[in-house]
Amino acid sequence: MSPPEINQSLVRIACYVSVLIVLCVFEILRPYREPSLPRVKRWLDNLGITLVNNILLTLSLAPVLSASIAYAGRVRTGLFYIFEFHFLLKLFLTVIIMDFLLYIWHLLNHVVPFFWRFHRVHHSDLNMDVSTATRFHFGELAISALIKASIILFLGADIVGLLVFDVLVLATAQFQHSSLRVSERFERWYWLLFVPPSMHRIHHSVVIRERDSNYGTIFSIWDRILRTMTRNVDQDKIRIGVGAYPDFNRLRFLFLLLMPATRKVK
Ligand SMILES: [Zn+2]
Repeated sequence: MSPPEINQSLVRIACYVSVLIVLCVFEILRPYREPSLPRVKRWLDNLGITLVNNILLTLSLAPVLSASIAYAGRVRTGLFYIFEFHFLLKLFLTVIIMDFLLYIWHLLNHVVPFFWRFHRVHHSDLNMDVSTATRFHFGELAISALIKASIILFLGADIVGLLVFDVLVLATAQFQHSSLRVSERFERWYWLLFVPPSMHRIHHSVVIRERDSNYGTIFSIWDRILRTMTRNVDQDKIRIGVGAYPDFNRLRFLFLLLMPATRKVK
């Protein structure tokens, strides 16, 4: 199948739904911790936000991303066209470079107050499970899509590379947010290169020092190299959420949409 024939949206949705179902079953069978809040209510909010975001992105910024891929290919602009790497090397570099830039973007979401206004929607979830992985404010995703369009032009990234990266980001984000009991041995090995649930659980702690660390999505190496990694936290004592938002009944769908425009919180 040639790249233009790939139905990108269908691949993304199929991967998202399959991983969601598998992890959801394992969360019920082997939970890391039992949810302290009504699962159905949280899932309605989180999956409602996911659905609204996808409709808005498909209508607004997906065409911008497709146009930048098409433009880079037409005028052969970007690093990958200049150096003409082998297909597999290009794929590998796309994933590595895009993941590093995602790490930087995630870090900026924590240190720049304007970006934190949007990103706190993701962190305000008081339980963490696979549904948290796609609980983002549309504003954050929109800014992120515009940055991504510029990176596509800079790299000259193609559809296949970007699709592989998107699917990996989505699946690894779903895994690391899941409330899944994973064997310590597996985590120890996985943590050497990738981000296991325990590493990301620390990132969702109400303790700001812990929250402002462990920014990686696919690879854990960026946190290791740039010294933003936190380990050795008692996992059973981690309280999930943002300290300023302790009340689940106020953190419902409509408030989450308005949250970036509400008072400033740490
Ligand atoms: Zn974060």
